[in-house]
Amino acid sequence: GAKAAESYPLLIKQIFASAGRFEPDNEIIYRGETRFSYRSFRQRVQQLANALKAAGVQAGDTVAVMDWDSHRYLECYFAVPMLGAILHHVNIRLSPEQIAYTMNHAEDKLVLVHDDFIPLVEQLDGHLSTVNGYIRLTDQAGSQAVGNISFVGEYETLLRAEEPVCEFPDFDEDSIATTFYTTGTTGNPKGVFFSHRQLVLHTLNMVGMLGSYAGLPLLRSDSVYMPITPMFHVHAWGVPYAAVMLNCTQVYPGRYEPDMLVNLIHEYNVTFSHCVPTILQMLLGCESGKEAHFDNWKILIGGSALPQGLAKAAMDKGADIYCAYGMSETCPLLTVTHLNQEQRALPIDKQLKYRTLTGVASNMVDLTITEANGSLAAHDGEAVGEITVQAPWLTQGYFKETEKQEELWEGGRLHTGDVASIHENGFVEIKDRIKDVIKTGGEWLSSIELENLISQHEGVAAVAVVGVPDDKWGERPFAMVVPKNETLTQEALQQHLIQYVDSGHISKWAIPDQIRMVDDIPKTSVGKINKKEIRALLA
Ligand code: ADP
Repeated sequence: GAKAAESYPLLIKQIFASAGRFEPDNEIIYRGETRFSYRSFRQRVQQLANALKAAGVQAGDTVAVMDWDSHRYLECYFAVPMLGAILHHVNIRLSPEQIAYTMNHAEDKLVLVHDDFIPLVEQLDGHLSTVNGYIRLTDQAGSQAVGNISFVGEYETLLRAEEPVCEFPDFDEDSIATTFYTTGTTGNPKGVFFSHRQLVLHTLNMVGMLGSYAGLPLLRSDSVYMPITPMFHVHAWGVPYAAVMLNCTQVYPGRYEPDMLVNLIHEYNVTFSHCVPTILQMLLGCESGKEAHFDNWKILIGGSALPQGLAKAAMDKGADIYCAYGMSETCPLLTVTHLNQEQRALPIDKQLKYRTLTGVASNMVDLTITEANGSLAAHDGEAVGEITVQAPWLTQGYFKETEKQEELWEGGRLHTGDVASIHENGFVEIKDRIKDVIKTGGEWLSSIELENLISQHEGVAAVAVVGVPDDKWGERPFAMVVPKNETLTQEALQQHLIQYVDSGHISKWAIPDQIRMVDDIPKTSVGKINKKEIRALLA
């Protein structure tokens, strides 16, 4: 009866149970060098779990990974939490001080570290107060580790010594499975954490949303999946868990090198990826990307607003573009593009608008916008407010940071810090982060909207807009532009923007009086435009 049903907790081991159930011969591929079937994957995860136990890992311990996107990382996504331990995805792009801070704060016990990060670990070692062992991850089988770290062993050697069978225990579905740190735009990075139950529900939802609602399925068992958002950042959006559940062929690219990524997409006929806009831009612009076509490639863009100009450039090369929205605190999925039949029938130029809005709230997500006075804003495409959410997979707080946790969850809903409007058809239009909105002469100007309009000039490769302090107006917009070639001028861009003033899109105050041409725009640890750094540069 009821008791028996209750005793079936939602655990990551149930996602694992589907691995190879449908397509046991589909493969998991690493950098085009290593490949093995789901049958082997099942065995390897169990061998890894046994190796972790042999290294002393117990339920409740935190195990950290420092690796690029790899088959090994995927194995850790399962083996660590299935033992009841917590997987800490270390953000290896943070500064060494911040990395040490996160590892101490998370109380990491055992660290799996790729050769590329051994120098970093040597540098941190004296500052890590809870770590008592390291496992080496290498791409050079048989080679010796460089440096002075002493290892429990090398990953493959440890796996080979273990039986491919491990009984994974049942436990409370609310046990913490994963943790990682926000990228820390101010102060120390903050730790978010997710339970087994949350990850299982997020995975089921991801399978549903990607598998059925986006018009054409983005991900199903015959898809070839390659992530291009790092596995250390928000579970690579949770897609690896969904891809395992669906038994997709998966390609893990290791360290991101644009030409290699483009080559992997073609060599393995990758059908689905996800990335931030700056990475898409990099893929289209690199040597192999310039001439390439991406006819079978569906790509989900999130993490920052996708400028229409970039979306068009990708679609012109055959890529099928969709958007999603979420954040570290939300596991991440909150919204995803769904083109209905009518929108899908439109010519591409008209579809662009729907494809670059951030889609509609996902199943199980309650998303509203709240005006400054606390009242709910209308869904009319005009009214603007802060997005607050409830969903089954939101972080309950920040690890050991009660005060910040209360702020995040004020009034019982998670506050995103993003301002948006919601259209009548449910499409969410993110206007800006509250902290990036430009306040000029009493008007509120969306930096995202300006970027969008500037990106539509054919000479623009990339653009970032921030507000800079101004004595007279409070703030003025400032644009940083990466031009496609040297002929682009500030005047030409200002001229380009006038058409949007004429058509009533923006007021003439929105046209930046300063537009700087640059070679590169500062990026965050996960490759997004870093507006905080741009403002600091300009100050
Ligand atoms: P960070 O704050 O360091 O960038 P996150 O990855 O958690 O870390 O970023 C989440 C934020 O990114 C969101 O709050 C939102 O401002 C922005 N964001 C994410 N997806 C989108 C999107 N599709 N469009 C616009 N902004 C987005």
